[in-house]
This record gives sequence, C-alpha cells and structure tokens, in this order.
Amino acid sequence: MPILRSAFIALSKNRTMRRFSESSSVGRKMSSRFVAGLELEDALRVAEAVNRQGISVTLDSLGESVSTETEAHKAAEIYHQLLEQIAARKLNANISVKLTQMGLELSPELAGAIAESLARHASATKNFLRIDMEDSTLTQTTLNIVRRIQAMPELRGSIGIVIQAYLYRSQADIEQLVIEGIRVRLCKGAYKEPAEVAFPAKADVDANYVKLSGILLKSPIYHGLATHDEAMITAAKAFATRHKIDPSHFEFQMLYGVRRDLQRKLIQEGYNVRVYVPFGREWYPYFMRRLAERPANVLFLAKNFFRA
Ligand SMILES: Cc1cc2nc3c(=O)[nH]c(=O)nc-3n(C[C@H](O)[C@H](O)[C@H](O)COP(=O)(O)OP(=O)(O)OC[C@H]3O[C@@H](n4cnc5c(N)ncnc54)[C@H](O)[C@@H]3O)c2cc1C
Repeated sequence: MPILRSAFIALSKNRTMRRFSESSSVGRKMSSRFVAGLELEDALRVAEAVNRQGISVTLDSLGESVSTETEAHKAAEIYHQLLEQIAARKLNANISVKLTQMGLELSPELAGAIAESLARHASATKNFLRIDMEDSTLTQTTLNIVRRIQAMPELRGSIGIVIQAYLYRSQADIEQLVIEGIRVRLCKGAYKEPAEVAFPAKADVDANYVKLSGILLKSPIYHGLATHDEAMITAAKAFATRHKIDPSHFEFQMLYGVRRDLQRKLIQEGYNVRVYVPFGREWYPYFMRRLAERPANVLFLAKNFFRA
C-alpha cells in the first residue's frame, strides 16, 4: 500500500484529528467537496440538484461504529426520516447504511433487527436499502443479515449488498448472491486488508473487478458498478455491448464530488448513474478515506480553498 494512502487511512482513525476537524469551520469547508452538508435538509437539497441532472442518488448519513443501543436507534431514525422525505419529495433516491452504525459490533441481532425495520420501511415506500460493506472481519455477518432479510418473501428485492473486488472470497459470494436474487453494488474496496484475505496488488484487484462485473452484468438482476476508474467503466461497457445487455439493465455509481465530468458523460451516453451522497456531522473518517484514494485531492482542495 503506498505510503500516502496508508498515512491517510491511519489519520482517518485518529481521534484527536477527528475531534479537531469536525468542530472546525476550516475542516467543514474543505470537506464540502465530498460531503453534502451537516444536516438532513442539506442532503435532500443536494439530492434534488443531482436528480435534476438526470442522476439518481443514494443517501448516506455519516457515522460508523456506535457504542450503545440508543445511539444505534438514533442513527436508524435518521434513515427512517430520509425514507419519508424521499417519498414526500418524490426524489429518485435510496439509502445506504453501515451496519456498524446500527450496532453490529454490539450485537448482530440488534443490527439485523434495525436493518429489517429499515427494509420494511423501504418496501412500504417502494424504495430500496443498500447495506454498505465494511472491513473483512464483518463480511460474513453482513452477508448473513442481508440474506436473512432477502429470504422474507415480503421483503425480497428491498435490500441489497456491497461486494469488494479486493477480497479473494468475492467471486464465490457474488455467484451465490446472484442465485439468491440479491442486488449487488460492486466496488474495489476501501479498507486496509491483510494479504491473507485481499489481493495486495492493484492490478489484481482491477482484473478481479472486471471479471466480477461480467458475472453481475450477465445475471438477470439490476446491479450497480461503483467505480471512478475509466478502465473499469470501459470494460463494463464493452462487455455489455458484446453480450447485448441493454444499458437500462445496470447502473454506474460514483461518489458525490468525484469525477463529475464522467458522471455527466455517462448520462449523455444513455447509461444510468447513481451518486452516493453522504451528509452529517461525523464526516471526518469518510473524508480521509477519499483523500487516501487520491492523495492529489489534498492539493486540489488546498488550491480551491485558498482561491475561495
Ligand atoms: C458509490 C460507491 C459506493 C461505495 N461503497 C463502498 C462500500 O460499501 N465499501 C467499500 O469498501 N468501499 C466502497 N466504495 C469505495 C470503493 O471501494 C473505492 O475505494 C473507491 O471507489 C475508489 O476506487 P475506484 O474504483 O474509483 O478506483 P481507483 O483505482 O481507486 O481510482 C481510479 C481513478 O478514479 C479517480 N478517483 C478515485 N477515487 C477518487 C477520489 N476520491 N477523488 C478523485 N478521484 C478519484 C482517479 O482518477 C483514479 O485514478 C464505494 C465507492 C463508490 C463509488
């Protein structure tokens, strides 16, 4: 892992830096490139603006591991409000949820029960709940929870998962998920993983991403390909053309503030695009992971900051 990437991942876990940044106005200003704002209303406003460009949205209320059951329920309540507001404002948006924010590390039963109640609410409002994937120690528990909910006939199709191409296990997981009819978002993977579980070399991750996206595109289910990597996107488009897969059968997904040029280009070409819009006061770890992906963003942000 390149040194800068490791440094930003380490910083993303630094509590002092986090406390300082989240409470400083400079920090908030820097993060606004990738984070919609602090409040739910900010996220809804951004979702409306993104929708106006023909791009759909998935909303993420920022926050990771909680330490009490009350905190988990409080975090879930924001998502219930989002589902209500998406329906009321007729937004083209769904929700993305991290199970650690719903108490996964306190009790998988608690996180599972909260996810189920969100899936019920999503189903009642004709919406969809995507469960984000976190580090590899949580992969199996996350899969178990999503599978249990998908297996309930009334909730079938209301929940989906994320699979990370850097994990060796992902091909087997995807093959099984496709059989179960579960919608997958494929990404490369954002956490620091040991070589025992994940491909250490980027070239291998990329090759696996191309291979797994082929399996997803050929399945009868609507999946999401989350990447800003033009090589991955070109490969997926070529695969779809070769196998006569209509662009309406899948979507590309990107993060808010990243490669907006590419998002617009794909829409013009007739592809579906969804943007992941995060918001909330706990933006620091998310923001640091984005810098880890592309340390050059620091220069970019600094330049814009001083220009402003
Ligand atoms: C919608 C969405 C949801 C995601 N959900 C999850 C999840 O649940 N779990 C998880 O582990 N990971 C998730 N990720 C993150 C993902 O795993 C990668 O870490 C991230 O997308 C970077 O990989 P990449 O495919 O864009 O390719 P990379 O090889 O990292 O980047 C390719 C090119 O894309 C551009 N780029 C990439 N990142 C940035 C950036 N931050 N700023 C500017 N340019 C950039 C650069 O030009 C770069 O050269 C998600 C990503 C997206 C887009």
